[in-house]
Amino acid sequence: MAEFDIIAQYFKDLTPIHAGDIGIGDDAAVTTLPPHQQLISCMDTLIAGRHFPHDTAPHAIGWKSVAVNLSDLAAMGATAHSILLALSLPRVDHQWLAEFSRGIAACCQQFGVSLIGGDTTRSELLTISVTALGAVPHGQALLRSGAQLGDMVCVSGEIGSAAYALANLIQDQPTTLQAALDYPQPQLALGHILRDYASSAIDISDGLAQDLGHILTASALGARVELERIPCAVELEQLDMLHKWQLQLNGGDDYQLCFTLPTHHYHCLKARYPTQLYAIGEIVAERGLHLVYRQQPMAIPIQGWQHF
Ligand code: ADP
Ligand code: MG
Repeated sequence: MAEFDIIAQYFKDLTPIHAGDIGIGDDAAVTTLPPHQQLISCMDTLIAGRHFPHDTAPHAIGWKSVAVNLSDLAAMGATAHSILLALSLPRVDHQWLAEFSRGIAACCQQFGVSLIGGDTTRSELLTISVTALGAVPHGQALLRSGAQLGDMVCVSGEIGSAAYALANLIQDQPTTLQAALDYPQPQLALGHILRDYASSAIDISDGLAQDLGHILTASALGARVELERIPCAVELEQLDMLHKWQLQLNGGDDYQLCFTLPTHHYHCLKARYPTQLYAIGEIVAERGLHLVYRQQPMAIPIQGWQHF
């Protein structure tokens, strides 16, 4: 089957294109940029067997390859606009492609994003690379580098669910948290709100400790995190504490936001969005991540996701 037929059958009409713009079908897409905005762009690659188990449902692979990119846009406070999809397939499997493209379409539709182009090729390893494009008003992107002394450190939801599901999957024990691993929910609406209030933000893809660490390094400050305040699913509550903290601090794939807020903003936002804001600690002068449990320092080995 020709590459053109795959594109026409599965990807061409996935999502509407804004009037006057051009999506799939020419040499490149044509996009009208919103006035007075900066383009926010990012790319993430998912490789079978490395970023998801080989037997992951194709619909979930499609969803997730879009969602992880939209999560990066959310962390910048961006409005998501469109994606490009580079697909490397070992073979043409119609059932797989139908489900995969439905997963892509479902995530695009949920977050109002168009698939405007991509590339299709053959390779031994199933590899999916998505580029996401978004926009923010000039100068208003949320950065990692803005945390201030005394800010509250917050997360947007339960942490550790995806790592718990992955660990159970490896042991062949199905869990109710499987959706957290397969269908991450990019926090675009929250990112939008945070643009006016947060001093810094990141999305949690490689583990809370490592990703919060990026904010601390970029901001040249430290954080004191109270382990008992990190929200988690009931399934994790039943684990022994050290095991739970390992999943929360070192497990990846949460795609919640971690952000810092001046305390006065925290209190007013918490009242308005009680289920999307959880304070877990504060920014301190002493560099590094300081973990405490019931006010006592806790030494927990930090080892986030390493690509090499
Ligand atoms: P070229 O040879 O000029 O690179 P292609 O045949 O690769 O052109 O692509 C033709 C059109 O199909 C382009 O608009 C391209 O963006 C789009 N396209 C190719 N692969 C995909 C894909 N996997 N998903 C979405 N659009 C794609
Ligand atoms: Mg091409």
